[in-house]
Formats: sequence, C-alpha cells, structure tokens
Amino acid sequence: MIIDDQHYDIIIIGTGAGGGTLAHRLASSGKRILILERGDFMALEEQNRTSVDVFKRERYHAPEQWYDQDGEPFAPQTNYAVGGNTKIYAAALLRLRDRDFTAVPHQGGLSPAWPLGYSDFEPYYSEAEQLYQVHGNWGSDSLGHDPTEPEHSQGYPFPAEPHGVLEQDVAAIAAQGLHPTPLPLSLTRQDDDPTGDSQVFGIDLALKHGNVTLKTNARVTALHTNSSGQVVKAVEARIGDQAFLFLGDIIVLACGAINSAALLLQSANEKHPNGLGNGSGLVGRNLMKQSLTAIIQRSQPNSGTFRRSVSLNDFYWGDGEFDFPMGHIENIGGLLQDVIYAESPPVLSVLAKLMPGAGLAQLAKRSIGWWAQSETLPDPDNRIRWNGKKLFLDYKANNLEAHDRLVYRWIEVLKAVDGPRGGPYPRGEVPIQVVANQCGTCRFGKDPATSVLDLNCRSHEVENLYVVDSSFFPSSGSVSPALTIIANALRVGEYLAAR
Ligand SMILES: Cc1cc2nc3c(=O)[nH]c(=O)nc-3n(C[C@H](O)[C@H](O)[C@H](O)COP(=O)(O)OP(=O)(O)OC[C@H]3O[C@@H](n4cnc5c(N)ncnc54)[C@H](O)[C@@H]3O)c2cc1C
Repeated sequence: MIIDDQHYDIIIIGTGAGGGTLAHRLASSGKRILILERGDFMALEEQNRTSVDVFKRERYHAPEQWYDQDGEPFAPQTNYAVGGNTKIYAAALLRLRDRDFTAVPHQGGLSPAWPLGYSDFEPYYSEAEQLYQVHGNWGSDSLGHDPTEPEHSQGYPFPAEPHGVLEQDVAAIAAQGLHPTPLPLSLTRQDDDPTGDSQVFGIDLALKHGNVTLKTNARVTALHTNSSGQVVKAVEARIGDQAFLFLGDIIVLACGAINSAALLLQSANEKHPNGLGNGSGLVGRNLMKQSLTAIIQRSQPNSGTFRRSVSLNDFYWGDGEFDFPMGHIENIGGLLQDVIYAESPPVLSVLAKLMPGAGLAQLAKRSIGWWAQSETLPDPDNRIRWNGKKLFLDYKANNLEAHDRLVYRWIEVLKAVDGPRGGPYPRGEVPIQVVANQCGTCRFGKDPATSVLDLNCRSHEVENLYVVDSSFFPSSGSVSPALTIIANALRVGEYLAAR
C-alpha cells in the first residue's frame, strides 16, 4: 500500500453532477482539493451524441456485474468517466415541482416531505441554471407556460431552442388544451461538444485552480476511520495495480446513489459493523429509480438525431379522472442517438412488425419517441445489498397504477394528434439495469434514527463525511434528478467553503 505524501483539506470521490459541481464550487476557496474518479476522460467521439456508429448498447453499461434480487447478473447502465453519467445524459435540467418537497399522497402510498422546502433550494436552482447554461423559457413572455413550474427568482440564462421537427405535433398537443413547454436543456453552444455536463461546467473549471488535483482511473475501495469511528482518516483507492491511501480532513462521496451506498456498506468496521454511518440501518435502503416507459409514435421521415425539446406536466398531479400524481412526459431525442435505441429492443421489434422490411436505423428515422416518467415511492425493501463479494439490487417497482394511467393518457393524446392514420403505439418499460435516475439510498433528515445524512448532507455518525450525489433524496419526484443534485451540491459547497 502506498501512502500519498500530500494531506488534503477535501477529498471528493466521483465527478458526476454532484462531485463535479462541488469541485467547481469549492475550487476558488483555495482549499487543497483532491478529486478521485474511477473512470477516465471520455474521447470526444465517444461523447458525440449524434454519431450512430458510436452508439452501441455497451456505451451505456459499465464493464461490471451487479445482481438482481434473484441473483441474476446484469451490466448496470452507468457511466464511469470524468463527468459521470452527465457525459451521456440528455441534459434536460428541470426543477422538482414545489409540492414535491411536501408530503404528497400517491395512489401507491405517501411520498414523504423533504426536511427543507422548495424555497430553501430555489436560490441554488437559479445558480445551477446559470452555471449549466440552461436554455429554457420562464415568465410571461414564455412560449408555452407549464402550470406546474415553480417560481423562479431568475429567468433562464438562455432562451429555449425551437422544437424543430416536433413543431406541428406540439401545436396539435397544445390544441387539446395542454401545455407542452420547451424542455430546459444545458447547452454549451459549441459545435463539437454541444451538451453541457459536469466535466465542462464543473471539473474543467475546477482544474484551472492550482489547489485542485484530479486523479483518474482511481477507484475508491474503502474508507478507513480512526479508532473511535468518528472520523474518516484515509481513503483507499486502486490506481492501476497499486493500492493507495489518501489522507484528508473532509471526505465527500459523490459516486452516484448506488455506488456511494455500496462504498459505505463495504467500509464496515468494528465501530460501524453494518456499514459506515449505518447505525440507522438505512444506508442503501429506499432506492428509487422512477418508472420509465418509452412510447413510439410513427412519424414522417426525420434525421433520427435531433435533441429532446418538449416537456409536459399537465398530468403531473393527476387529471380529472385520477386524483393522484401521474408524472412527467418528455420527448425522446432522435431515436438513433437516444438511450431507447440501446435499452428497448422490444419496442423496436414491435415497430419492426409495423414496418416490415425496414432496418432498425430506418425505423428510428420514421419515429418519434416519448418518455412517460413517474415517481416511485421510498420502500426500505428496495435496496442495495453487499454480501462481501457481490452487489445486489433488491428492487420492485411501485406506484404503478399512476404510471400506467400516465402512459394510457399520453397515448390518448397522441391518438388525437395523429387521427385515424396514427397508432398503434408500441411501448416498452425499462429493465432493472437502467438505473439512470437512481436516488434515495442515504436520505437526509433531522433525525438520525430515520435518516443517514443531516441537513448539510453530512453523516449523522461520522463527522467529516458528506454525500452529495442523489443519495440524499427522500423522494424521487417525477422529473429527472440532475438539476436537483447540482443545486444541492452548490448548497452543500457553500456550507463547506465556510466550514
Ligand atoms: C442515458 C442517461 C440519460 C439521462 N438523462 C438525464 C436528463 O436528461 N436529465 C437529468 O436530470 N438526468 C438525466 N440522467 C440522470 C443523470 O445523469 C444522473 O442523475 C446524474 O448524473 C447523477 O449524478 P451523481 O453525481 O449522483 O452521479 P454520477 O453522475 O453517476 O457520477 C458518479 C461518479 O462517481 C464515479 N465513481 C463511482 N464509484 C466510484 C468509486 N468507487 N471511486 C471513484 N469514483 C467512483 C463515477 O465514475 C462517476 O463519475 C440520465 C442518465 C442516463 C444514464
């Protein structure tokens, strides 16, 4: 074991939405910061979201195996690289709705209140939108106003981009009295790397400061505490064939909700026999990953490589026939570049039957896809388990009636858009390996008996240990999580900079 001879003020583990943003927030503080990232920089051609050639199923899957509750292995859809999953995400950056922070009855049970409200997060949402150059519409002059959009103290820094190929469909959806709204997107406006992520807006900016060091291909394998178990003294990581120990005053986990919880469970010791900071028994529990269904609408020929652009929340809190929250709708980008191409062969095979003789690429160029996305509720039995050798995801989707209703409701809308020549509308749910919107495995709260982290996302039990990825979410909401993770990293960063 090699002991690194530097001593750092802060060690950040992971460079995704949480870790990358935090690194940027803290870089100007002058503190000595070490960032450990298990992946490497992604080559530009690997990131190029418009290239069909690089779009392979494997691109979205890590080269390792996790196991479902029946012990079946699968390759998780998660990206190990500088920027984490934001290197492959769709860059749709939405705020949770303000009611998402309160206790909300769902058909499948109660979505719990967060210990902080929307107003506590609002300034950081605004800061996050400025930092990530979000293009969107807000305010009275907006083209299409989403009635569920919470108050913004600042408008988006850039106006939304036009809907392009979807313009006519959007008009036909709006004609039904609905409110299709531009999907807020992080865009760099650079031709070669158009989508904003936590490398571009986090790590690259942080590395301009001489006090920040990044080590790539550095997989953290354990956190070691002092003899009382109150403080993490050292971070163990493998770089190549070597094991290293890094020493720091503040340790921040940002490995993603599943991997951060796994690392805590793997770091069990005499003082923390059930996993580090796991006196509550909640580390790894309450895993949520939203229910996602892809719905395909046949359309006129298109390039197959356009961006996502439409958001619709008219059914977020239910509709006239269903008095419980249903969820969020957004369009899938061109099918040749989007995850559906890799994740939903069943959807495409239904499509193939509808258009015999066409190859997958041709099918994709004759289709428009939509995601229906619904909240799942925290369930302590949905969890990450580490048996000393293997990582298990015990997971059963819940709140499914709400999701089914959303899917059927959306198909009704599409039928009205398409008229008699439309449909059928193949659809496919995503399998267990799709963990894109994972959250909840170390929820934050005031009570150490019912939460893992305090309000500053610090472990209730280990005084220098923080978690700033999506682990802290008490509920998932129905919109994608990245902007909330980014906003929270800015919030925690402000606290740590002052600490
Ligand atoms: C295909 C796809 C599309 C998506 N689209 C959207 C979208 O449009 N909008 C949205 O809001 N969200 C989207 N998401 C989800 C979004 O990307 C995630 O919510 C977000 O990236 C999570 O941020 P994080 O910081 O929690 O973790 P991650 O981004 O997963 O980052 C974790 C980092 O930790 C590193 N790491 C893990 N374990 C270790 C270890 N042991 N040692 C060292 N480093 C480690 C990883 O390599 C990674 O860099 C999408 C996700 C996917 C996969």
